[in-house]
Amino acid sequence: MPFHATAGTFLGVADTLWFVLLTVAAVAGVVWSLSRRYSLMMAGRKGVVLDRWGERIRGVLVYFLGQRRMFLEPLPGIMHALIFWGFLVFSVRSLSMVIEGLTAGWELPFLHTGLGHAYLLTKDSFAVLVLVGVAIAAWRRLVTRPARLEYSPDAWVILGLIATLMVTDVLADGARIAAGVPGPWAWTPASAAVGAWLAGTSQAALHTAYTTAWWLHLFALYVFANYLPYSKHFHVYTSLPNVFLRSLEEPGKLAKMDLENIEEGTALGAAKVTDLTWKQLLDLYTCTECGRCTVVCPTTITKKPLVPRDLTIALRDHLKGSAREIIGDPGHTPGTPSRELAGDVLDPEIVWACTTCRWCEEACPLFISYVDKIVEMRRHLVLEKAEFPPEAEPAFRGMEVNGNPWQLAPETRGDWAKGLDVPLASAGDFEVLFWVGCAGSYDDAGKRTSQALVKLLRAAGVKFAILGSEERCTGDAARRLGNEYLFQTLAAANVETLNGHGVKTIVTNCPHCFNTLAHEYPDFGGHYEVKHGTQLIAELVAAGRLRLTAEVHRELTFHDPCYLGRTNHEFAAPRAILGSIPGLTLKEAPLSHEKAMCCGAGGGRMWLEEKLGTRINQTRMQQLQQSGVNDVAVACPFCAVMVGNAQQELGMESAQTVDVITLAAQALARDGSQPNAGS
Ligand code: SF4
Ligand code: SF4
Repeated sequence: MPFHATAGTFLGVADTLWFVLLTVAAVAGVVWSLSRRYSLMMAGRKGVVLDRWGERIRGVLVYFLGQRRMFLEPLPGIMHALIFWGFLVFSVRSLSMVIEGLTAGWELPFLHTGLGHAYLLTKDSFAVLVLVGVAIAAWRRLVTRPARLEYSPDAWVILGLIATLMVTDVLADGARIAAGVPGPWAWTPASAAVGAWLAGTSQAALHTAYTTAWWLHLFALYVFANYLPYSKHFHVYTSLPNVFLRSLEEPGKLAKMDLENIEEGTALGAAKVTDLTWKQLLDLYTCTECGRCTVVCPTTITKKPLVPRDLTIALRDHLKGSAREIIGDPGHTPGTPSRELAGDVLDPEIVWACTTCRWCEEACPLFISYVDKIVEMRRHLVLEKAEFPPEAEPAFRGMEVNGNPWQLAPETRGDWAKGLDVPLASAGDFEVLFWVGCAGSYDDAGKRTSQALVKLLRAAGVKFAILGSEERCTGDAARRLGNEYLFQTLAAANVETLNGHGVKTIVTNCPHCFNTLAHEYPDFGGHYEVKHGTQLIAELVAAGRLRLTAEVHRELTFHDPCYLGRTNHEFAAPRAILGSIPGLTLKEAPLSHEKAMCCGAGGGRMWLEEKLGTRINQTRMQQLQQSGVNDVAVACPFCAVMVGNAQQELGMESAQTVDVITLAAQALARDGSQPNAGS
């Protein structure tokens, strides 16, 4: 039997017919599976804004093609990148092999040009590199066995198919090289090595090796393509659109519910899986089960039932399992799933455990979100079913009736400023509105921080004012606990007050207030320049308007608040202040900046009991102790409470928690010689 350069020349009529049938069946199978998945996904609600195309395309280049988030862990990053980039290169190769089978003598049109040579070299190199990636993956699954991975047979099926694709590729070319088929083989070193190994083999055996490798390659490719929609590796299809369609909103901003135009029969929040948006359902398809979200989640770390990856898998399995109910089948009419999410699919404890710290979202290489889905489920529980942890009730009532979750008298809101002669916004004549917040108004440590900020603003000559009893809770906790009605009521009232006083610039010591005022109030007509206290003070120090010259002899570590750091990307300002205080030494904990774990207070958890697992604040304090010091600087009144409590609970009698703003006020030049004092 003569040996030929490409497959089509050796396939007889019957073989070609079989190959055509196999190809048609494979393509039809993929199209059918993808169309089912697509219909299921589109049963979700609308809610995708397709804007900022440049940023989206950049995101695809950096995060999809460039795999940036994968490299946060070097070895798995390299492993995945080798396989992924090899997959891209081999998609051209595999397609050309299909065409070879259908068209006698066909080959890539540019094969004998410089581009073709570069492609062959890349392809052949990646055949080896992908096998290296597969070997690393197998090593991790068999030997190192990281705790975050899921050990299902699925991964072995996929690794086996990928390895088959690579081995059959170099074997096919190696057989051709050994058979003396002319070609640009100088550019295929791996195949040439296989060819050298096969040298001396009979032409008939080489022909059999070639045809077997070719059939196996195509068969593996078709099985791979059809298997993906039913495996966790469906992300091979969905990760590109998921990265492209990721939300470009501010990370700390929650979507506004249109409470005035709710259609009859529409659930408030997410009751069923189809109440999530189709992009949120695409998230579910895209999860690779890598567990990166899970190893950083404070609730998982402290043994609570919320395990982010498991939540996504549970929702995904429920979605797929409800396909017949949702999109129908022969004999089944499409409808809505019978099971609710919170209660039927998920234990409500899972839904209430989240602190909205967003570390899971930052860790996920594919931009899968959690906070939005969890808050949607909370919205349904609170707004439709009035089912929420009983401790939330007094906080809700306090925010509704008194304008603060402590249920303290609203008229005493400004009492912390008694004797300080702090001007009220109602008197006009101010440049910056100091938004004090509930903790800054009522909590003892928070009040000290408020007083310290007043001292600093005065020293810098900033014309500021407060709202006093006109201020109410921003509603951050209400919103994150799912009480969107209450949040919107508070937001509307506050925006009316702020706009009524012509407020343009706001400073606040609370990162939760900061996030809500800056990113969520614009949806309610409130557009302000909002600065966190540490940002404004750092600016004033840098501009020479504040001199921090008095020595403060302390060694401290700094706990990054989630809503200032990870969510609003401010890591530098508090450190700049601490760094400018003479005598103060900052010692960083290993888990700091983007990696700082939540204190446990976010997402409205400040107002809930922590009954399950161990305590998040204690775990966080133990992490902070790894800095080598016990005293902690904070930049959030809720972190101050949680970290301070942890120090007491852990019996760290002499340890202290102190706000950065308070430290800055202590460091003000004691001779009163501020550059702008009295201006
Ligand atoms: S936001 Fe934080 S607490 Fe919630 S699931 Fe993600 S990592 Fe866990
Ligand atoms: S959500 Fe993201 S980080 Fe978590 S398991 Fe899935 S892919 Fe991995």
